[in-house]
Amino acid sequence: MFNNVILIRFGELYLKGKNKDYFENTLKNNITDKLRGIDCKLFFGRGRYVVKDYDVAVEYDIIARLKQVFGVHSVSVARQCGYDFDEIAALAIQMTPNSGSFRVTSHRSYKKYPLNSLQINMKLGERILQAKPQLQVDLHNPAYTINVDVRENGDVYLYDSTVKCAGGMPYGTGGNGLLLLSGGIDSPVAGYMIAKRGMSITTLHFHSYPYTSEAAKQKAIDLAKILGNFCPNIKLMCVSLTEIQESIHNHCKPNYMITLVRRFMMRIAQRVALDNECGCLINGESLGQVASQTLESITVTNAVVDVPVFRPCIGMDKDEIIEIAENIGTFKKSIEPYEDCCTVFLPEFPLIKPTIEKVEEQESRIPDYNELIDRALAGLETVQLA
Ligand code: ATP
Ligand code: MG
Repeated sequence: MFNNVILIRFGELYLKGKNKDYFENTLKNNITDKLRGIDCKLFFGRGRYVVKDYDVAVEYDIIARLKQVFGVHSVSVARQCGYDFDEIAALAIQMTPNSGSFRVTSHRSYKKYPLNSLQINMKLGERILQAKPQLQVDLHNPAYTINVDVRENGDVYLYDSTVKCAGGMPYGTGGNGLLLLSGGIDSPVAGYMIAKRGMSITTLHFHSYPYTSEAAKQKAIDLAKILGNFCPNIKLMCVSLTEIQESIHNHCKPNYMITLVRRFMMRIAQRVALDNECGCLINGESLGQVASQTLESITVTNAVVDVPVFRPCIGMDKDEIIEIAENIGTFKKSIEPYEDCCTVFLPEFPLIKPTIEKVEEQESRIPDYNELIDRALAGLETVQLA
C-alpha cells in the first residue's frame, strides 16, 4: 500500500541572497494558513514541500487551495515509497499503464543514493518492461512518463503529471499597496496581478450613494472577498463621492466631470494609502480603453499624487484581462449590471485630451475642495469581509 502525497514546487527565483529565509518562511506560513481546517500534515524540505497523511477525498480541495497561494508554481500528486529499489519498481509497475509507450525520468536530490539518475532510469525501465513486455520505451515522445524523485529524507516520490499553479512571489513579501477597486472587470485583475508579485493589498471603493445603489457597493464587497482567496486578510474601505460629484456638477463644465472626479479619487486614495501604510496605489487602467485612460488623461489624474501608481493592466487588451478575470473567479461578479460612481453625472462627451492648466482652472471653481476631501475621508467606512 503506497500513500498519496502532494508535492509542492516553488520558484527558484527568490531563493537567492539574504532574503531567502524571509521568502520561504512567508510561503510556509501562507501554505499552512491556507490548509488550516484540512486534516493533513505538511513537511517543509529543502526545495520541496510535501502534504501527507490526508484523506484522498480532500485531495482536490487541497490542490484547489494551493492554487490560490502565490509563490507555489506547481504541484503533483505522487505516490510515496522508500529507498528500497524493489519497492520503487513495484510502485512504478503498478502506476504504468498496460499499453503504449513510456519513459522514466528520475531526479536524485539525495546524492548518496547508490544509483544515479541515469541508472535509475535504465534499471526501472527494465523492470517495467519485464513486468509489462507489451510496452515500448520511447524517450522522445512517450505516451506516459513516470517521474521518480529521490529525496534526502528517505522518501521516494513517483508521479506522472504536474498541475500548474499561480506562481509569483509569496503574498506579503512585496510591500503594501492600495487597490482602487471598482465594480468593473479590470481593477480586480490589476489587484490580482500585483498581489501575485507578493504585494499585500488593501482595497478602496468609491460609491455615490444614493445615486449608486447598495447593490453596487455589495458588488465591490463580493469582489474583494473573491480577491481574498488569494490575498489573505484583505481589507475593504468605502468612501462616498456624492458630495464631491454634486459640487463638480454645480460648478464645472460637464465634460470635465470624469477627469475631475478621478483627480479627487486619486487624492483621497493617496491619503487613505498613507493612513494604512500603503506605499503605492494600484488601479485597473488600460491604455486607450476609455477617454479617461489616454496618456493625457492619465497624466492629469496622476499629477495630483506623489506615491507610485501601478497599473498592471496598462498594456493588456480587454480579452486578455477577461481571461484572467475568468480564471480568478471575478468575471461573473464584475459583469453584474450595477452602476459605478463614474457613471453618475456622466457627460455626453468626456474629455479625451485634457490639459493640466484647463483642469486646474475648472477645479479652482470648486469652493473649499480640501474640506470636501476631509469630509469624504471622515465618512470612510471599513467593511468587515470575514
Ligand atoms: P474597471 O473595470 O476596473 O472598473 P474601467 O475600465 O471601468 O475599470 P474606469 O472606470 O475608467 O475604468 O476606472 C479606471 C480605474 O479607476 C479602475 O480600474 C479602478 O482602479 C479605478 N476606479 C474606477 N471607479 C472606481 C470606484 N468606484 N472605486 C474605486 N476605484 C475605482
Ligand atoms: Mg469602471
